[in-house]
Amino acid sequence: MMANAREVRCPTCKKAGDWFATPFGPFCSKRCRLVDLGKWLGEENKISEPLRPDHFKDFENLNEEDMDKPK
Ligand SMILES: [Zn+2]
Repeated sequence: MMANAREVRCPTCKKAGDWFATPFGPFCSKRCRLVDLGKWLGEENKISEPLRPDHFKDFENLNEEDMDKPK
């Protein structure tokens, strides 16, 4: 059994260590953090289509209707 109470596993490379003691926690290194970030961004781009002006137009209309209502 490990005596290290704060040991975590790096989500990228699964290496165990006290990664929260580093600026990259819970990742063991800057590289692993960037790899994980890139993975997430890649998956999101696959799932959702890129933002288009149409999407923002919908939001603008919603906000205008809510905020411009005179009371
Ligand atoms: Zn790592």
